[in-house]
Amino acid sequence: MYKRQAVNALVFLYLEVAGSSEDAYFMYTKGAMLKAAVMEDGEYYRLLTAMFMHFGISHLVNNMIVLFALGDNLERALGHVKYLILYLFSGIGANWISMMIGNKDPMVVSAGASGAIFGVIGGLFYAVAVNKGRLEDLQTKQLAVMIVLSLYMGLTSSGVDNADCIFCKIANGEIPSATIYEDEDFRVILDLGPASRGHALILPKEHFKDVCELDEKVAARVLPLAAKIGAAMKEALGCAGFNLVQNNGAEAGQTVFHFHVHVIPRYAGGPEMVTWEPGKMASEELAETAARIEAAL
Ligand code: AMP
Ligand code: ZN
Repeated sequence: MYKRQAVNALVFLYLEVAGSSEDAYFMYTKGAMLKAAVMEDGEYYRLLTAMFMHFGISHLVNNMIVLFALGDNLERALGHVKYLILYLFSGIGANWISMMIGNKDPMVVSAGASGAIFGVIGGLFYAVAVNKGRLEDLQTKQLAVMIVLSLYMGLTSSGVDNADCIFCKIANGEIPSATIYEDEDFRVILDLGPASRGHALILPKEHFKDVCELDEKVAARVLPLAAKIGAAMKEALGCAGFNLVQNNGAEAGQTVFHFHVHVIPRYAGGPEMVTWEPGKMASEELAETAARIEAAL
């Protein structure tokens, strides 16, 4: 009865032992969905293999709870063979549909049993309909509550990951770098195109596009870490001070869309940088601008 959950859990264990289920590139090598690989290289098997793979334990657990809650009722109603066909067909179908219309970026890696779960929910509606509003001891209302809860759990754990992010690969050690510091959340490296000697980049190991996406733990840790790096630069390189620079958005000069903080040592007599021409603003305009931003907070 719990064969699908067992297969998913075993696949997950294998992935965790062989590498990391949260490493998008590793997941790609093991059969996760990647539009470019399916469309350009004809690797259609990914439509099937990806549905048994999950990114991280919470993605797996959420999907498996949903299958426990919904799938087993339906399996008893339909019988094993029909249920298995529905499960596989909806998993493959959902991967195909999301590849064709849902996912514009050919380099995004995705995986998970969510597609199969949508099929199971569809099947439940069908089974309840032909059984005139009842399925075994379940009533339509109870079913609806379970479905809403399950969808919420399934949808809040994402099955996509970014495969081609260079800073993900550097931060997680897949691409070598001049690392000056590493802990469980961060890697700090030297910039390959430094603004001054010692210019460092603080990279979270987890992927966040910019400062607006940061989770609380990383956000709380990043400034103390920047201060520590800056202090070490003063001691080791003899710089007089340092700038923290952090770009958000292409117009703001962000070129790598994985949150990072620049720590730029500044030497006495060194070149000017991070400067701007001070403009002028009338006090009404200043007040009006302040009010606008305040209103949006
Ligand atoms: P930003 O303009 O804030 O997105 O900064 C990106 C920074 O990353 C630039 O200063 C680049 O020199 C630096 N950079 C890009 N690729 C690499 C790399 N592979 N290793 C080290 N630094 C890099
Ligand atoms: Zn990244």
